[in-house]
Order: sequence, then C-alpha cells, then structure tokens
Amino acid sequence: MSRVFVTRPIPEIGIGLLRAKGYEVVINDKAENRAATKEELLEGIKGTDAVLSILTDKIDGEVMDAGLPTLKIIANYAVGFDNIDLDAAKKKGLMVTNTPGVLTNTVAEHTFALMLAIAHRISEADRFARAGRYKAWGPSLLLGTDMSSKTLGIVGLGRIGSRVALHAVKGFEMKVLYNDPKPNPDFEKEFGAQFVEKLDDMLPHCDFVSIHVPLLDSTHHLMNEARFKIMKKTAYLVNTSRGPIVDEKALAKVLKEQVIRGAALDVFEFEPDIVPELKDLDNVIITPHIASATEETRNKMASMAAENIIEAFEGRTPPNLVK
Ligand code: NAD
Repeated sequence: MSRVFVTRPIPEIGIGLLRAKGYEVVINDKAENRAATKEELLEGIKGTDAVLSILTDKIDGEVMDAGLPTLKIIANYAVGFDNIDLDAAKKKGLMVTNTPGVLTNTVAEHTFALMLAIAHRISEADRFARAGRYKAWGPSLLLGTDMSSKTLGIVGLGRIGSRVALHAVKGFEMKVLYNDPKPNPDFEKEFGAQFVEKLDDMLPHCDFVSIHVPLLDSTHHLMNEARFKIMKKTAYLVNTSRGPIVDEKALAKVLKEQVIRGAALDVFEFEPDIVPELKDLDNVIITPHIASATEETRNKMASMAAENIIEAFEGRTPPNLVK
C-alpha cells in the first residue's frame, strides 16, 4: 500500500482524496500550530512514497535521503518551493510539485488589502480609536495617501503580480510600471502598463512598490538600503512574496528615518521572528504570512497537492511538476 507523510495538518479535503485511493496517510498532528521539527521530518519520511510538505518544512538532501529508496514525490502545499532543495531532489530522481494558480486571486486581494490599509492608515487608526484617543473629527487627523491615479511598480509580473496590476488599473485607475526578466507586450496593451528593464530605473517613479518574485539566490535582498534610498520619500513598499527578498534591518532603518513613508508586509526575513524595530513603528502593517489564507483557497491547495501525488502514484506526470 502506498504511504503518504503529511508534515503538518492540512484541510481534510486533501486527506480525503488520498484516503479514497486507499493510500495510508500519516499526518504529523503534533505540528498543528508550529513548524515540523527536523526530527519529525526525518522520522516521518522513512518508508514513505510521498511527502506532502508545508512551506515551513525544510526538505533538504538529508531529509530526502531518509525517505529513500521508497520516496518518489515531494508535493509542496504552496506555489513557492524555496523550502525544498531542488538540486538535491533532481539528483535523487525525486519529483517536486507545487500549487500554482489556485491562490493567485487570494494573494492579490491580500496585497491590495495591505496596500489600502497602509495608505489609509487603517491599523494605526484602529489602534488610535480603541485607545480612546478619538476626541473630535479633525481636518488633519490621521491623514493618509490616495491610491487612485498613483503609480504602482510591480516587481515580478507573474500570476500574482499581474492580478495585482489588474486591480490597480481597473479598480483604481493607477498607472502600472513593471520589472521582470521578460516583457509582456499583451499585458502592456491590455493594461496600459510600462515595462522597465532595470529595477533601479523603475523605483524612483513609484508611489507604491509591490514585490511578487520567487525567492532565488538572485532575488535575495533584492530590496536593500541602496534601493530604498532611490524610492520616493512618499512611497510605500508592499511585500507578499518571501521575506528574505527584503533586507528587513535596512527596511526598519529607512522607515524609522522616513526615507520612505511606509511598508505593509505579510512575509519576514527570519519568520516567524520579526525584526523588533519594525514592530515598534506605526508606519508598518504586519500580517503573519496569511496572504493565501482563505477557506476556499486553502481547500484548493490541499486538493491540488493531493492530486499531484495521485497522478504520480498512478504513473502519470503530475500536472504541477516543478522543473
Ligand atoms: P510566478 O512564477 O507566476 O511569478 C513570478 C514572476 O517573477 C515571474 O514573472 C518571473 O519572471 C519574475 N521574476 C523572477 N525573478 C525576477 C527578478 N529578479 N526580478 C523581477 N522579476 C523576477 O509566481 P506567482 O504565482 O505569481 O507567485 C510569486 C511568489 O509569491 C511565489 O514565488 C511565492 O514565493 C509568493 N507567494 C506568497 C504567498 C503568501 O502567502 N504570502 C502566497 C503565494 C505566493
């Protein structure tokens, strides 16, 4: 009987699909509200044919070795797969899959929620009112920034970046600039967007900058102190991609010194830790890596990860194979 190790509990719908096929499914229930430990991964993967992993699990060569010779597939419950050592998986002949597309709309919505919240100072205003500091309507009370007709810079025009651009253009009549290794003329035509080949040439023109690149060696600290310094003093940074793409210490420093106006972040360089200086600042909005966290989307991610495993077990190529 094929065996699947699920590193942390996921929505029941995915587990049900696997059990309906008659597979033995072992769920690491201990890691309900925390990352799985290395020991749990090394132990759980032994003698298993598939591992259904979460982005908090580091699936390195050592963990993969513990699953050999039975292990065939690592099905990640995320579109990002920077938690998996792809080179090691390739060398060992293991398939790796992800969950692209099903979370695009949800993450784009969350990105927009963050952008609106930082521009209109929603969290800060909420804290202000709850603290009993609201004494009277005031002409200059908690002044924010309009988004309509402003310029949004998208870094990484993939699935999520394009969807954020759609909301910006269709909903807020924003002007969209984008930076990506490859231009997309169809997108430009449809949204009146403009490709900027070099990130450094785009940043000085943006009122909002939203990051949507994968975490790669080439995108680590893509946003650093030098880049913050060429942004507008009035600009906002939004990051719903991966924490290490932003140099978090440098970000805290420039926010404190008001080099840029604010930041809204769903992901952090040293998750789940957050640089303490950031937490003390009012011009920062923090959500704990929940950009894809809706019931609908998490169910779709669970089904997709399970279907990738089923396809592999039945001898077909999983639809979401990472190459
Ligand atoms: P995607 O592959 O469709 O898009 C990524 C885009 O980034 C591509 O267009 C690619 O060409 C571009 N890119 C790569 N390197 C670049 C660089 N150096 N500079 C500029 N552009 C570059 O991926 P997606 O589905 O849109 O997801 C994007 C990322 O969002 C994922 O890799 C994941 O890490 C992150 N994500 C986070 C959450 C969350 O919960 N916060 C949820 C889903 C995805």
